[in-house]
Amino acid sequence: MNENNNDSRRDFVKTAAVAAAALAVKEVGFPAIAKAASPIALPALPWADNALEPFISKNTIGFHYGKHHKTYVDNLNGLIAGKPEADMDLVAIVKSSAGRADKTAIFNNAAQIWNHTFYWNSLRPKGDAKMPPAIAGMVEASFAGGLDGFKKEFTDAALGQFGSGWAWLVSDGGKLKVVKTPNAENPLSTSATPLLTLDVWEHAYYLDYQNKRKDYAVAVIDNLLNWDFAAKNLPTV
Ligand code: MN
Repeated sequence: MNENNNDSRRDFVKTAAVAAAALAVKEVGFPAIAKAASPIALPALPWADNALEPFISKNTIGFHYGKHHKTYVDNLNGLIAGKPEADMDLVAIVKSSAGRADKTAIFNNAAQIWNHTFYWNSLRPKGDAKMPPAIAGMVEASFAGGLDGFKKEFTDAALGQFGSGWAWLVSDGGKLKVVKTPNAENPLSTSATPLLTLDVWEHAYYLDYQNKRKDYAVAVIDNLLNWDFAAKNLPTV
């Protein structure tokens, strides 16, 4: 075989691989994250884009989901094309790239995809939710002051995260805790199981609240947290 034949065979193999990957598109759904291969898909929002108004506007969702979240998906698919990560599910990509200096871009984009999908599911339109008893009991047992104590601690985490990041309600060692993470980081590589999250990057609130992160945090925590989602994420003992 001469060199030209080798080149065209390589091109054919590459084209076939791309076609196969395109057929393998799957949703990254919640709460069960599909095992999905490359390319990673942008999952649908769990509610209409205006459903969180007046607390989070349709305009914010348009940019936050339609631009920011989508860009992380597009970036990750570009970064992992032809790499081992192209055959891994999103959680495996996040875990295997965490803390790796040579995988920073893959980690940042993969974790931000996971974090945002988790965030959308952590929210629900006001008015159709009661706290499931299982999680209500754990909140009472885990936070001094019960639900009010949780709200204060979660708000403090949201405000105390300097710069961009996330506040999380997690289950760890049979208790609920509040933690915060910078930038794209999340609790997936720790012993804790995430139950709810709040995005405190400026793009999450700047269009609606400008610099007033506290007003955004309080509005979401008081009105939009999806306790059914939190309950579903509780580890089964
Ligand atoms: Mn965000």
